[in-house]
Amino acid sequence: MGARRAIGRGTTCAAVFIAAATAGLGAAAPAVAAVAHVVQPGETLWSISAANNLTTATVAAYNGIAADSLVYVGETIDVPTVEEGAAALTTAGVAPVATAPVAGSPSGLDPSAAAAWEQMRQASLATFGVDLYPDGPLSGYRTYEQQAYLYDLYLSGQGAPANPPGTSVHELGLAVDVAEPPMRDAIDQIGAAYGWYGIGSEWWHVEYGGG
Ligand SMILES: [Zn+2]
Repeated sequence: MGARRAIGRGTTCAAVFIAAATAGLGAAAPAVAAVAHVVQPGETLWSISAANNLTTATVAAYNGIAADSLVYVGETIDVPTVEEGAAALTTAGVAPVATAPVAGSPSGLDPSAAAAWEQMRQASLATFGVDLYPDGPLSGYRTYEQQAYLYDLYLSGQGAPANPPGTSVHELGLAVDVAEPPMRDAIDQIGAAYGWYGIGSEWWHVEYGGG
C-alpha cells in the first residue's frame, strides 16, 4: 500500500509540473508533444497551423504532406511542438528562415544566371572591393515548399513580404536577395552588363534578365 501511494503522488506531481509549464507558454501554446487533431468542418491546414502558432509548411512537413494539401473533415493531422516541427522541416529539406549570410555564389540558380552572377561578382570585387552574396540559404533559389514557408511567415506577421508559392522569380533560380546595401549599389552600377538588375521596391532583391 505504501508503494501505491508513492506512485500516485509522483504521478500527480508530474501532471502539475506539465500543466504549469504549458501555462507559462501562453494560452495558445501547443502541448509538450505532438497532438493528433481531427479536422473539423471549415478547417484548413492553414487554419489548424495558425491556431497552434505554427506555419503551414511546418505542420505539412511533420505530416509528410505538401504545404498546399487539402485536408478533409474527420482526417487526423498531427500538430507538432515547435521543436518537432523544426526537425521535420530540416528532414524535409525545407530550411528554417534565413539567419546568416551565405558566403560565395548562391546555389541552385539557373545556369546562365549563375555564370553571369559569378562574372559580376568578380567584377564587383575588382572594381569596388565588394563581394556579392545572398542574405541566407533561402535568399537565392527556392523550392515551392520553401517559398510556401516564407509566404506563411509573411502572412503570420513573422517574416518579410514574400510572394505566394508558385509566383516567385526565386523559384525559377533567377533572383537573389543580397545581404548588404553596398552589394545592391554595386549591382546598380555594373549589373546590367551581366544581365542582373535591381527590380521593385526592395533594395535587396535583384533579378537576372538575360545577358
Ligand atoms: Zn527576392
